[in-house]
Amino acid sequence: MDEEGPECGKPDFVLLDQVTMEDFMENLKLRFEKGRIYTYIGEVLVSVNPYQELPLYGPEAIAKYQGRELYERPPHLYAVANAAYRAMKRRSRDTCIVISGESGAGKTEASKHIMQYIAAVTNPSQRAEVDRVKDVLLKSTCVLEAFGNARTNRNHNSSRFGKYMDINFDFKGDPIGGHIHSYLLEKSRVLKQHVGERNFHAFYQVLRGCEDTELRNLHLQRNPAVYNFTRQGAGLNALESDERSHYLAVMEAMRVIGFSAEEVRSVHRILAAVLHLGNIEFVETEEAGLEQGHLEVAEEQLVDHVAELTATPRELVLRCLLSRTVASGGRDLIEKGHTAAEASYARDACAKAVYQRLFEWVVSRINSVMETRDRDPRRDGKDTVIGVLDIYGFEVFPVNSFEQLCINYCNEKLQQLFIQLILKQEQEEYQREGITWQTVDYFNNATIVELVERPHRGVLAVLDEACSAAGTITDRIFLQSLDTHHRHHPHYTSRQLCPTDKTMEFGRDFRIKHYAGDVTYSVEGFIDKNRDHLFQDFKRLMYNSSDPTLRAMWPDGQQDITEVTKRPLTAGTLFKNSMVALVENLASKEPFYVRCIKPNEDKVASRLDEDHCRHQVAYLGLLENVRVRRAGFASRQPYPRFLLRYKMTCEYTWPNHLLGSDKAAVSALLEQHGLQGDVAFGHTKLFIRSPQTLVTLEQSRARLIPIIVLLLQKKDLRPREKHAEQSTDFPLLLPASAVLP
Ligand code: ADP
Ligand code: MG
Repeated sequence: MDEEGPECGKPDFVLLDQVTMEDFMENLKLRFEKGRIYTYIGEVLVSVNPYQELPLYGPEAIAKYQGRELYERPPHLYAVANAAYRAMKRRSRDTCIVISGESGAGKTEASKHIMQYIAAVTNPSQRAEVDRVKDVLLKSTCVLEAFGNARTNRNHNSSRFGKYMDINFDFKGDPIGGHIHSYLLEKSRVLKQHVGERNFHAFYQVLRGCEDTELRNLHLQRNPAVYNFTRQGAGLNALESDERSHYLAVMEAMRVIGFSAEEVRSVHRILAAVLHLGNIEFVETEEAGLEQGHLEVAEEQLVDHVAELTATPRELVLRCLLSRTVASGGRDLIEKGHTAAEASYARDACAKAVYQRLFEWVVSRINSVMETRDRDPRRDGKDTVIGVLDIYGFEVFPVNSFEQLCINYCNEKLQQLFIQLILKQEQEEYQREGITWQTVDYFNNATIVELVERPHRGVLAVLDEACSAAGTITDRIFLQSLDTHHRHHPHYTSRQLCPTDKTMEFGRDFRIKHYAGDVTYSVEGFIDKNRDHLFQDFKRLMYNSSDPTLRAMWPDGQQDITEVTKRPLTAGTLFKNSMVALVENLASKEPFYVRCIKPNEDKVASRLDEDHCRHQVAYLGLLENVRVRRAGFASRQPYPRFLLRYKMTCEYTWPNHLLGSDKAAVSALLEQHGLQGDVAFGHTKLFIRSPQTLVTLEQSRARLIPIIVLLLQKKDLRPREKHAEQSTDFPLLLPASAVLP
């Protein structure tokens, strides 16, 4: 990769002449036109999806970034990956890379490049176990995408789940394990997709990819239009040959990861069972003298297929589809017949749950092979970790439901973390260090987060309350309750509270002013989705399957209905808990940020729609980020650490200084280099304004290290550490004049 000239614009938005939206956009656009899709804001990387293959990646490019400082090369994901890796390796710090941006902005591609970088620079000694872990890490993406991604209108390979992946490293800096957390799979997609969208890739891959004999065994036909669940997207298939090659790639990845052939067959049977389940329809026949009609399955053969594929007794499958067991006081169990509507609801709930469990099982199966085996005894069994977060961005659709509320709440949480870590901490540190600081105003979204998650009153809590009441509470009553609680909240409104606002429907919609924009949610289905109810009969059915793989997905099916006393946690509460845990986890690590921008809505190359981007720049808070950064400094280091690293570059500080304080010594050192104008002296730390100053110091240090090492060797004195790069503290036996030029 070539170096950048001034015609490529500014590589760091901090260097803008003025921090205005116009200047920001101009630089973004100029760089984009020159194929420079990456730009820094300090250590934050801004990335614009190029929607075309650019010659930016691969082994050669990786080599250019390996071991370099962030500012030594043009901005790149590799530089961020390298910075996170070095912080982890040098300082034994847990780090994380948080990738955010809207759907289609390039988050998942970015996470793949990061993983490829880490895989490329680690394990030089090619230890087999490390190679195995790396293989699984890389291959896991392919498998997860098959089961968790789908074509949407915004992205043909859209992740329909959130992913956080920890990579564990040993003391040599080699990956020895990993763990994937997945968040809120959009399982409603199993049943229904918007026009122009598809179900999860896995269904089409099986239909198009399986050999004829296997397909026959699964009782499937090749054409996705035959199945209710895949019909909608049937016309949108990728080329059949593509689908087949994806299928083969996934099979190969599953093999490498360690899925057994039997497990893979089970997975295919489960996918087929879901497709058949989706085609089951019910007919209600009136029967004389009965209040409720008699219910039957329209096409009984489908029941045979489902029973065979799930390895469960046909009679039980039929019974689960047509009725449910209820406990009527004490231990009496009675079987209660479904109405047609109830049966369809139960069938759908079952199909979604089976798919969700399958997905979660795939994740946990991958985790089981990535589990760290050789823990590092020197860190009390603790390894250092790099976490990579690739999670759904802010979403606004024509109709927004419970899922969008969860996703947007997640983005509020992450934005808050960003504010806390980057903006607030920075300001607070300057105050603490007594550095003059101009306050930068920024919007703190804490109040919106509270609106959603606050105990007792927040939207999720009010929803839980509605769900825990007996069946009488409707979505509409839930909405009224929200209105009562939040009528004065500045970020909440509804048609009832604002009758003149015709953009919301009375009795159905409420609106939250998110930091990224206003979103109108329709409460229809909220209670149902939050309750996420599945009859215990289905769980028991699956648990009693003679297919061990399927059975393992349903441990809670062991209980019978009379033993199920506790109400399970709602979907909303589970999600909230997982978000709180995620944010806590991220906050404990040193964060690196990649902020992805989608250049246009049409997924085309070389076109950057300014309005579209401006909106993203605004809600990602990038301008505020630049302001804080400019008011700030590129680097800060405690005085002792600074001296350890650079004391050999100055006669007053090598080998020891006699200047009263470390601060005075640092001052003398900088004066000798003529760099004192570019720094500020805090109480305990030195603040360096421009990266160039660091470059100068590093160069000077690099010139001297070999001389010092040579002299030490001559005297047969060994540095305490093996690698010159890591050693900052030489034995202080040489006279200063011996090594200084
Ligand atoms: P997100 O995960 O943010 O929804 P993706 O990472 O899936 O978005 O990117 C969407 C599409 O954009 C990809 O399938 C790919 O075609 C294209 N894309 C994203 N990043 C790049 C990149 N760095 N180079 C080339 N194409 C890219
Ligand atoms: Mg994605």
